[in-house]
Order: sequence, then C-alpha cells, then structure tokens
Amino acid sequence: MSGKERTEMSIKEEHNSNYLSKRIILMAECIILISSALFCGVSIYRARTSIRKNIQQRMLDIANCAAGSIDGNILGSLEKEDVGSDVYNDLYRKLAVFRDNVELEYIYSFRETKKGHFEFTMDLDQVRPAEFGESVEYTDAMGSAAKGIPAVDNISYKDKWGEFYSAYSPVFDSNGRIAGIIGVDFSASWFDDQLSSQTHTMVVSYLIILLISLLVAAVLLVTTVRPFVKMHGQLLEEKVRAESANLAKSDFLANMSHEIRTPINAMLGMNEMILRESREMQRLDGTNPFATKESVNNIMGYAGDVESAGQNLLAIINDILDFSKIDSGNLDLVAKPYKVRSLINDVKGLIFMKARDKGLDLIIDEDPLLPEKLRGDELRVRQILTNLMNNAVKYTDHGSITLMMRGSKQDDGTYMLEAAVKDTGIGIKQEDLDKLFSRFQRLEMERNSTVEGTGLGLAITQRLLALMDGSITVESEYGKGSVFTVRLPQKTVETDEEVVTEPAEPVSKVTEREPFEAPNARVLAVDDTAVNLAVVTQFLRNSKMVVDTVTSGVDAVRLAKDNHYDVILMDQRMPGMDGTEALAQIRATQGGASCDTPVICFTADAVVGAKERYMSEGFSDYLTKPVTGYALEKILLKHLPADKVSRISQ
Ligand code: ADP
Repeated sequence: MSGKERTEMSIKEEHNSNYLSKRIILMAECIILISSALFCGVSIYRARTSIRKNIQQRMLDIANCAAGSIDGNILGSLEKEDVGSDVYNDLYRKLAVFRDNVELEYIYSFRETKKGHFEFTMDLDQVRPAEFGESVEYTDAMGSAAKGIPAVDNISYKDKWGEFYSAYSPVFDSNGRIAGIIGVDFSASWFDDQLSSQTHTMVVSYLIILLISLLVAAVLLVTTVRPFVKMHGQLLEEKVRAESANLAKSDFLANMSHEIRTPINAMLGMNEMILRESREMQRLDGTNPFATKESVNNIMGYAGDVESAGQNLLAIINDILDFSKIDSGNLDLVAKPYKVRSLINDVKGLIFMKARDKGLDLIIDEDPLLPEKLRGDELRVRQILTNLMNNAVKYTDHGSITLMMRGSKQDDGTYMLEAAVKDTGIGIKQEDLDKLFSRFQRLEMERNSTVEGTGLGLAITQRLLALMDGSITVESEYGKGSVFTVRLPQKTVETDEEVVTEPAEPVSKVTEREPFEAPNARVLAVDDTAVNLAVVTQFLRNSKMVVDTVTSGVDAVRLAKDNHYDVILMDQRMPGMDGTEALAQIRATQGGASCDTPVICFTADAVVGAKERYMSEGFSDYLTKPVTGYALEKILLKHLPADKVSRISQ
C-alpha cells in the first residue's frame, strides 16, 4: 500500500470516527430524553394517585368531623316518630352546618338494620330528601364504616340523585356501639374536576422540570461532551498529519539512503580500480613507459570520480544540515556588501559544465542596469540560484536553461532583486505545484527515478527566501518547461563601501592550500578509525610536522602525559573513553606535558548546536569530518605556535 493510500485510509477512518462521535452524542441525547420522559410519566402517575388519596382524605375528614359533632346516644335512639322533634331538629341543624358551608353535595345519616342492609335516619337534601327508613344503596366503603372504620368509595356509583363518590364515618354511642353512620356525597364531576385540575398543575410543573433538565443536559453535552468530541477530532487530525509527515519522512529516509549509497558505491568502486591499477604499475615496475602513463591517467580519472562522488555526498549531507538548521531556527544570516556580477558569474561557473555535459544551452540574461553592489547574505543568495539552476539542468534533457536577472529600486530604498530560472524541461503537473515546496517531496518518482535528488532543495530554497523576506513563484507547462521566479529584497550599497567577497565553494578544495612547514611542531591525532589517521598523516606530510597517532582515548591520555604536543586532534566518538573524557583527563593530569595543549574536537557530528556543545565542554576548536587538506592545515595554522611555522611560497 502506498503512503498516499495509507493517508487516505486514515482520513476515511477519521471521518468514520467523527461520524461515530456524532452518533454517540445523538444517542446520549435520546437516552436522556427518553429516560426523562419515563421519569416524568412515572412521577405523574404516582402524583395522580397521591392527589386522589388527598382528595379522599379530605372527604373523609369532613365525614369524620360531621360524625364527631353528633351525639351517638341520640342518633342511635332516633325513631321514625322523632322526625320533626326538637331532638331531631337539633341533630339536623348540626349536620346542616356542613351542608351549607362545605362543597359536599349531600349529607345524611343512616344505620345498618340487618346485615348488609342500611336505612336512612336523616337526609339533609333540600329538594328530594329520603324518608326515614328508606333503603340506602350499598357500597363497599359503607360496609367498612359499618365495622367502625371510616372509608371512602374508590369508584363512583350512581343512584337516583346522580353519580357520586361518598365518604362514611361511624358514630359511636357511649357504650362504644355503632349508633349510625354519617355519609357525605361528593358529585363525581366535582371529584374528577379536583383530580384533573390538581393533576394538570402537577403535569405542568413536571413538564417545566423536564424542559429545564433537558436544557441543562443539552448545555452540559455541548459544554463537556462536544469539546471532547472536538478534541478527539483534532487529535485525529493531528494523528493523520503526523502519520503523513512520518510517511514522507520514511520515504525521504529510504530515498536518502539510496542517494547516499550511490556516491559511496562510486567511491568504493573507483577506489578498487585505483588499487588494481596501482598494483599493475607495481608489477610493470616502470619497464613499460606507455602502460605506466596510461595507468597514471586511469588512476587520475578514477580519483577524479571519487572526488566528485565525495562532493555529491557532502552536498547531500550539507542539504540535510542546512534544512535542520533552518527548521530549528538556528540559521544565522550574514548581510555584507557583495558584487552582483561576480555572484552571477559564480553561479554560471558552477552550472556551466553540467549544462554542457547534457548538451543544454546556458543563457545568462542580465539587465545591464543591475547595480554593481548590493548588501545581503551572498552565500545564501548564491545557494538559492544554484539550487534552481541545478534543478533546471536536472529536469531538462533538451533545449536551454536561462537565468534572467532583473531588479528595481523600491520606495523604501531597498532593491528588489528578481531572478527567473527558465528551462525547457519536463515541466510540472498543475496538481503537483502545491507539493513542490514541501520537505522531502519528490514528484513523479517513477519518471524521475534516475535523477538524483533528495526533495530538500526547493524546501530549503523557499525557507531561505522566507527568512530573507523574499518569495518564490512557479509557472510550468507539463512537458514543455518551467519558470521559477525569485523576488528578494536586498539593501543598496554606497559605491565606496568595501566588498567582502564570500568565496564560492571550490569545486575541489585540494588546491586551496596555504603551504607551510613546521618540522619542529608535534601533533597528536586520536581516532579509533585508522583510515582517518592515515588521511591526517598524509595531508600533513608536506608540512613535515611530527604526527603521532593513537586509536584510543586511553592511549592519548598516556602519550599526552609524557610528551609535549603543540596541538591534539581528538576524535569524539570512540569505544571505551570518548573524546570529551580523554580531554578532561589530559587537562587534569598533574604535571602532564600536554595539559595546556589546544585540543581540537575532530568529529563527524555536524548537527545544529554540536560545535557550541563541544566548545562548552572545553575543546579549543572544532573540525568536522570529512576534512580537506586545506581545512586541516588552516585550523592547525591557527593553533600552532607562530615560531614553529614557516610559510613557503608556491
Ligand atoms: P530534488 O532533490 O528531488 O530535486 P527539490 O526540492 O529540488 O528536490 O525538488 C522537488 C521536486 O520538484 C523534484 O523532485 C522534481 O520532481 C520537481 N522539480 C524541481 N525543479 C523542477 C524543474 N525545473 N522542472 C521539473 N520539475 C522540477
């Protein structure tokens, strides 16, 4: 599966997961809604039952109260003949108080004459009162009252007076016997009205509570769950981004290891050829002058290839270092006056051979009105132009490469330098233009598989330009060619201002020597890799210095104790005792012959911040591998005692 497919899958996963999160929220909302509704339903049902009980209790209270106001002995002794008597009327008046002041429909007294048979003893209905001794319609509640327990009808009943719910309360005589029962009727419609109006109030209150709790739940969901979901979404997005960055990085590393292996392979191969030819020469022993000359030519050719493969390798590593410096914000720009034309010439010089080797025309079209000098970081401007020109050559097989240099003075006094690099090469697809400046991105890997590259060049170019407030744009027609246009503000320079020219990276630094001799100087080189020691010894052979070599920190400390060295070159990463430890021990050796000798950290560790770290550990200077003879001699000249060095003219 390709990286792109994997990223697409991750995006799909993210969508699914977002969809899932939304569904979870929706489900939570539904569950809260349903459970709140159920809770309200149950509560309303229970409330209705208790309202009903309350109403019944009130009816019972009225019946009990009326029963309590009656003398049981008198009620028990009433006979039909007593109707209209003072005693009868007296009881009547007492019950009439209830009839007139309470919302009951009827109030009456009756008694059980036979088991389950009840007869009126008094009826206070003003329209159609029942007569003394008239039968009373039986209900269960009545049966309960007859046993001495006040009770209320649970269901309504109908008789000739209408539909009612009744409450019954027994009246006891002084012997504790039931003298009669007071019945109070409440119309069924009154009862239902009471029940429904109170229930209605209850339902409205519950609905308000339900609404409020739903609102609170919704607010809680929005304020707590939503941010979680959002965070989850963001985390997923970050995951997808990190995954795709990781994939790009893996592709980059895979490509990089290929890029690095290629020149190493060339170097090893060519080196083997050098060895073979040299052995051949040894065998010929100078007896065949033609063969020897041919062999020397071959060897020089192979050595040249080794040199260029080494330079390629170094360029790749430098790109990586540059990128990491820019990425970590550790790239310092150095603005100095420089000559514009000599910069253009440098770029031309670096590209010329490459263009010629591919049969491409190289056109330099510079505006004659370009200022003579500008102020800026010449090294980086040259790097930008060289990157673009190198790409133009790399991605063009026929036609020409053009570097067009223009510019104009701005209102704020700066000079806007404009460089357009045009080629007639393979071009870039419209949909790929966005990816062009992403780090590690190479386009059309299949088509360009034979073209060397790391995918860092344009990313570095763009970031360098951004650091210098410049910009880059691309126009391209697929199959026809591309134009990369750079706009870069530079400071203008007074004509008499001195120009400090940064040297262009020499094609080969081997020739850049400052010849000197120091036969009295003594140097100790420490490195666990013997080849590195051989390289150092060979580089210093002409200077006639005494070079001692050791392959471990322990040996270095031992030699430095008894011998005075003028400079020590100390490798950093060594098994057992590393360079920093060896340095510390040399410095700490009491009476050591070299305890004050400058110690140069000689390391392949060239990442951002390495130099500062080693210097802070006490090293006197810092020299990176791979080292050139020029760089080695230069740093030694800096630290050797001047009286031991004599310069020789070439
Ligand atoms: P590389 O080391 O791969 O050349 P760059 O960052 O310089 O890396 O370029 C990124 C990609 O952009 C290249 O791999 C190539 O596909 C495309 N590219 C760059 N310059 C050109 C050009 N002049 N013509 C066509 N394609 C180009």
